[in-house]
Amino acid sequence: MISASADLHRQLDDLHVEPEYERRLRVLLEHCRRNLPSVDERLIRRAFKVAYWAHRNDRRASGELYISHPLEVALIAARDIRADDVTVAAALLHDTVEDTDLSLTLLQSEFGETVAQITDGVTKIGSVFENRALGQAENVRKLMLSMASDVRVILVKFADRLHNMRTLGSLKREKQVRIATETHDLFAPLAHRFGLHEVKSELEDLSLKYLEPEAFQQIAQGLNTKRRQRERFIKEFIEPVRAELEDAGFDFEIYGRPKSIYSIYGKMRKQGLELDEIYDLFAIRVILNAEGKQGREDCWRAYSVLTALYPPIAARFRDFISVPKSNGYQSLHTTVIGPKGRPVEIQIRTAEMHEIAERGVAAHWKYKETPGGNGSAGRAPQDVSAGAGDTRLDDMYAWVRDLLENPRPDDAGEFVREFQLNLYDEEIYVFTPNGDLMTLPRGATPVDFAFQVHTEVGFHCIGAKVDGKMVPLSYALQSGDQVEILTSKKQTPNPDWISFVVTHKASSRIRHWINERRRKAVKHGRQLLDKKLKRAKLALDEQQINKAAAGLKYSTARQLFFEIGTGLFDPSDFVAHVRGRQPVEDEAPAPKPGESPALLEVDEMANIARESAREQGRTALVIDGERHTDLAIGYATCCTPVPGDSVFGFLSKTGTVKIHRKDCRNAPNLLLRQAERVIPVEWARQKDVQFVASLRLVGEDRVGIVSDITTVISKSLKTNIRSITVGSEDGMFEGAITLYVSDLKQLRRIMKRLERLDGIYGVYRSEE
Ligand code: MN
Repeated sequence: MISASADLHRQLDDLHVEPEYERRLRVLLEHCRRNLPSVDERLIRRAFKVAYWAHRNDRRASGELYISHPLEVALIAARDIRADDVTVAAALLHDTVEDTDLSLTLLQSEFGETVAQITDGVTKIGSVFENRALGQAENVRKLMLSMASDVRVILVKFADRLHNMRTLGSLKREKQVRIATETHDLFAPLAHRFGLHEVKSELEDLSLKYLEPEAFQQIAQGLNTKRRQRERFIKEFIEPVRAELEDAGFDFEIYGRPKSIYSIYGKMRKQGLELDEIYDLFAIRVILNAEGKQGREDCWRAYSVLTALYPPIAARFRDFISVPKSNGYQSLHTTVIGPKGRPVEIQIRTAEMHEIAERGVAAHWKYKETPGGNGSAGRAPQDVSAGAGDTRLDDMYAWVRDLLENPRPDDAGEFVREFQLNLYDEEIYVFTPNGDLMTLPRGATPVDFAFQVHTEVGFHCIGAKVDGKMVPLSYALQSGDQVEILTSKKQTPNPDWISFVVTHKASSRIRHWINERRRKAVKHGRQLLDKKLKRAKLALDEQQINKAAAGLKYSTARQLFFEIGTGLFDPSDFVAHVRGRQPVEDEAPAPKPGESPALLEVDEMANIARESAREQGRTALVIDGERHTDLAIGYATCCTPVPGDSVFGFLSKTGTVKIHRKDCRNAPNLLLRQAERVIPVEWARQKDVQFVASLRLVGEDRVGIVSDITTVISKSLKTNIRSITVGSEDGMFEGAITLYVSDLKQLRRIMKRLERLDGIYGVYRSEE
């Protein structure tokens, strides 16, 4: 990777450009000077040189030097699309970042932000479309537009595609079909929308050549064998017209123009005709050099001259001058009976009208190509007008056409700024793993995506991959991302998600879930309180409870139940309050919101046990991992506590004290039902003893993940693993590990290290 300017400049100084390519560069510059509003020749020469150097070792499938491709693409941008010099420079460089060892940073420092951005945009679009079968053409088109921050990205893409289509012959059949289909479905209609009539027409002909090779060859050959005959006929037709028009003093051009193979093919298919049966394989055009009112009158005068020579077919006459088409197209159309009694199509218009028709200021963009319309064919795109209702899109097409038609040579800076494409600041287009496109609002996250796929997927989403890599659930998706959601049956929505989701669907489903959970917490809190009151032998009616809740500064009793249910409020304090006493002093640290409701129950029961222990004149049990006093100690396998964990002891029927974590799933059951067997315990300061802890890991199922995990645990942390079990499903990995640690601190360190491993989504203490 070349990333230093100095290195590059040294390389460029020694660069020898073959004369053939020097010549082609001169041709390119000539077209630039002729067609573009302003030309920074130094920029284009430098872009050429860098591209030449970057591709110096590359060849195309056809065998020629690779540089001929970017050169041709730049030529199309300058000659056929007539964008601007920045576009031409970007066209020369468009394949360098993707295919060579030139870095984007270097491109930035050599050519500035704009050229680098356009090149980068072309590369990104290329990688999204690579090897993907495209459906939903209208959405794909939007995706492409939304990925381009600058409309010149699209213009380079058109030029790139046109040249690739011209040279498609060197590729394998399978690739030809894929690229030609994409061209037909996506690029040709898009070029049409941008008013790039000639580019569109050539793209259509070339896609037909590869999609329907036999039909294409048959028509091409048919046209070819009769070319002489046709040219003779056209000449014979034109000569008297030319003489008459010259006599009448017109400044004009007249010529016969063959129709595109694609449109002839369409006509054959649509009308079930053979090539021989189609008369209008060409049309005669009369272009008058006159403007305004004079121009319009001239069109009519020319029409009279023509129809005096050849009788018109009245039914075929169309006056698009008095009544222009909705897209602004103006012309007189007629069909006359020519030599040998053959019908000949004529179009008469001024040069100005012609310019609009060909490269269209307002051209074509609202013109719906109905199946019966001119230019449609067997494979005609079904969706040319699909975006007709999208005024934003239509406005943009019109705006781009206007830019291309009316460049502002006096203010190149303004011209460049106007190319900034920010129409798509509201939507993004992302792919599902199946390659389907999904539209989401900008800022949407994997959680929004998951709920869009299905509510259940949203509820259980635990992680997400974008283009195969794990991303946080709060990641802002980008157009073109391929998103895969990882789910786990154990996962439930996290209320934090509300803070970053942007779709209504996701936020309403999460809120609903939170409300549901709240309802359950309220119910649970109420039950806990009732039990507590019963044990305290307090009989309170609703009114008294409400009053007590108000006395505790709760706005409603429901709020109180909720806090009890979630463990935020200790029901013993409620009892104390009712009895008019100070709340029971609690040595346990204040529980944090969100902690298991069992925790307070545990503390409360521990208090009871502590009181009874005090009464019996015994101190709380201190555990040191060994036999202690007259009681045997064991560690509960359900929660595998380690020193540092908040714990309690539970006297088993065999006389052993089992140590549980206070947040053990079994704790509420043990503490509520069999409070008399709970023994308050504390950890001794012990370092040499090893404890068993269990962890659960979730992540992506990738090669080598198990060995990475065991390496972290046994090598870097010098800890022994007792067991490890791994399951995987749908590319998702779940592992259960039991290992030896000396205390909670060490366990947390291990968990941190594991979390940092590539592809690990989460590491949890096992709770059951
Ligand atoms: Mn290319």
